[in-house]
Amino acid sequence: MTVKSEEKKTGKMACNSATCQSGCYGDEHSVDEDYQKRPPQPEDGVPPGGGNFNSDGLCIKCKVNETIATTHPAVSDGGGDRGRFCADCFQSNLFGKFRFAVTSNAMISSSDNVLVAFSGGPSSRLALQFVHEMQQKAQKNLDASRDRLLPVFGVGVAYIDESTIYPASSHDFDGTINQMELIVASLAPPAKQFFVVPTQSIYSHDFAAGKDRLTELVGAVSDITGKEDLLVHLRMRSLQKVALENGYTKVVLGTCTSRIACHVLEATVKGQGFSLAADIQYVDARWKIPVVLPLRDCLSEDLNVCCILDSLKTVEAFQQPRSGINGLISSFVKLLQEENPSRESTIVRTAGKLTPFCFKRIPEVGDSNGHLASKRRQKKYNLKPSESLPPESYCLICNSPLKKPNGTSSNCFRDGETSSEIYASTCSSCQYQILPKDPTSLENFLLLLPQSMTTMAKEAVTTKSC
Ligand SMILES: [Zn+2]
Ligand SMILES: [Zn+2]
Repeated sequence: MTVKSEEKKTGKMACNSATCQSGCYGDEHSVDEDYQKRPPQPEDGVPPGGGNFNSDGLCIKCKVNETIATTHPAVSDGGGDRGRFCADCFQSNLFGKFRFAVTSNAMISSSDNVLVAFSGGPSSRLALQFVHEMQQKAQKNLDASRDRLLPVFGVGVAYIDESTIYPASSHDFDGTINQMELIVASLAPPAKQFFVVPTQSIYSHDFAAGKDRLTELVGAVSDITGKEDLLVHLRMRSLQKVALENGYTKVVLGTCTSRIACHVLEATVKGQGFSLAADIQYVDARWKIPVVLPLRDCLSEDLNVCCILDSLKTVEAFQQPRSGINGLISSFVKLLQEENPSRESTIVRTAGKLTPFCFKRIPEVGDSNGHLASKRRQKKYNLKPSESLPPESYCLICNSPLKKPNGTSSNCFRDGETSSEIYASTCSSCQYQILPKDPTSLENFLLLLPQSMTTMAKEAVTTKSC
């Protein structure tokens, strides 16, 4: 594989200058032409000559201003784009990557209502900021247009409150939520709804009963990595629930290159190679409300620097350190990245070679305009029509595609389903890492699972759409 071929696919290099080697995402409309003019790049993605840092200290895009590494000594350490761009070009480049991912994958349309998952950290903070900026631009265009036909997409923000699992004092909790509310309120207009969603809400609106059930469910997982992974899956179910109940049509995650690189190695170690391609796509339409990853091409260190440059407030009060296998891999990838600043991108690009699942794309809308736009996009960004078959079924815990339906058939989810049937609808990784080993605890564990998990598995088996 060469970087050149990969760049054509992602449409990187959008600057208008034929000589620019910045790897910038300035103008999405000149992708294909400029790619043609671009000189080949080495395998590791580091430009030839100046390495990651520009030798004369000038921004390689505008060639006028000094790079961030020179002008902002406080954020000069580390890799990423800060040694190559000035602050302005750095910010517009990062926004360009976001906008390119959104437009080339049709992540957000004017009729959408998008829900941004917000943890308070830099990645989701920036995802929120960029979605907001995009919304503002759409609003400006609407105001300027005479016919005012195209509506502006709506934006909501959701924070998943995991205090049942990771308790915090009510004083700290209230303070943090208050800060988040202020962040969201500062982005108006148009006003954005802010949801604080306790994880136990996946059970019912009776939070007290849900709290007990959730505590018991998580407490039944003895493996430290399994516990952490289960919480990730529950977080996604909670996001889906709040999006569904409030009329949202897309869920935006702040998942960046660095996080995906870790996930690639984690999944490999956990024996999830078959389903890995599902988790690293720009669009994940296997959920009822499709999930999109517009920051998939951004490094976490660049997102951090951008938050600092833009003085974007982040709230990190309840960020949990990763543990078990996930913790080990996070520190391993961090080391790799320190050695060579393009390692994370290389890991993600390499995993990107896996045959994707058919749900990597937002389902086509029925009208002919939507169809035409989609055809145009496919041509412009060299996208192939869906080339893979839909999976037979999904793991009811992690929603990973299962290789074969484990001997079960579509009629296995009748009333009075037995635990062994539910067990058969889980992937081997969940069986090994999350499900209790002895039959009595297993039976109890399966009873504690929220209904959304068992229902989704049922629907996946009965409706094989794609
Ligand atoms: Zn510049
Ligand atoms: Zn699973």
